Amino acid sequence: MEQKNGFVKIDGKKISATIKEEIAAEVAQMTGEGKKPPHLAAILVGEDGASQTYVAAKVKACEQVGFKSTLVRLGAEVSEEALLREIRKINDNPGIHGLIVQLPLPKHIAVDKVTAEIKPKKDVDGFTPANVGRMTLGWPAYISATPNGIVELLKRYELETSGKHCVVIGRSHIVGSPMSILMGRNDYPGNCTVTLTHSRTQNLKEIAASADILIVAIGKAGFVTGDMVKPGAVVIDVGIHRIADDSKKSGYRLVGDVVFDEVAEKASAITPVPGGVGPMTIASLLYNTLLAAKGEIYP
Ligand code: NAP
Repeated sequence: MEQKNGFVKIDGKKISATIKEEIAAEVAQMTGEGKKPPHLAAILVGEDGASQTYVAAKVKACEQVGFKSTLVRLGAEVSEEALLREIRKINDNPGIHGLIVQLPLPKHIAVDKVTAEIKPKKDVDGFTPANVGRMTLGWPAYISATPNGIVELLKRYELETSGKHCVVIGRSHIVGSPMSILMGRNDYPGNCTVTLTHSRTQNLKEIAASADILIVAIGKAGFVTGDMVKPGAVVIDVGIHRIADDSKKSGYRLVGDVVFDEVAEKASAITPVPGGVGPMTIASLLYNTLLAAKGEIYP
């Protein structure tokens, strides 16, 4: 934990590595007892470069912790029905515990229909209506990876949330919306007074500046500046953007939705980009797959 005058730079990379070690230890114990390791299946449709990179990282992470993984690759022209058939096959395969379909999908495929086809019991991305509903009711559920990762960071850094004003910027189904529900529930982390903001919100600057906890998932590089942050706030930056940078070997650098240097001057704790929320996403997916193998959410 990097800490200067009470300031905390939240190290998602380190926490994610710790979680992976914990999962690997549990898998070793399971297999030592003669049980099968958790098995994750991923379906990748098309040749999108970013999606291929994400799926490859997920498969590699499975290997690192001792999971079995199956990657099903389908061409970009695959029909919706053929994709649904593939999902049903995995739904019915008792040897596979978790299933993810990498998004985005080609335009001719209805993502809602695909998501709804995944058996809730195997929905380790936590995207199905059943898991979103269960999370909203406070029932045991697979919580989607990025919000789950943020909750885990708050927990592991023991950051106080009860009674705080949490402002979430962005209301997407995968980040902002579930985040607002989790921060408002009667639990830890939670018990916040939550304000969920979006592109129609008026006086966003003032609302953001009143946050004790500011969670930014907007998808606009450097949107949150120092004047939008209350001194002492906890700032969670979900955004990831590639910015051209000739000084880097890769030709780009990664930045978030938050202007890190300006905001770090005022915040009590902040996630950097890279190395903050990003690494937590895969750790959460692995964790959900372990839960699936143990039958903990749907016994
Ligand atoms: P998204 O689906 O594009 O949603 C963006 C949200 O921001 C929408 O709710 C939108 O409002 C709101 N918004 C847009 N412009 C705004 C403005 N000027 N003022 C206030 N709100 C505004 O994005 P997402 O999928 O949640 O992703 C957000 C960012 O997080 C992206 O950079 C993405 O790459 C990154 N991300 C990172 C991870 C990770 O693992 N670290 C995971 C997922 C996403 P409306 O609803 O009104 O349109």
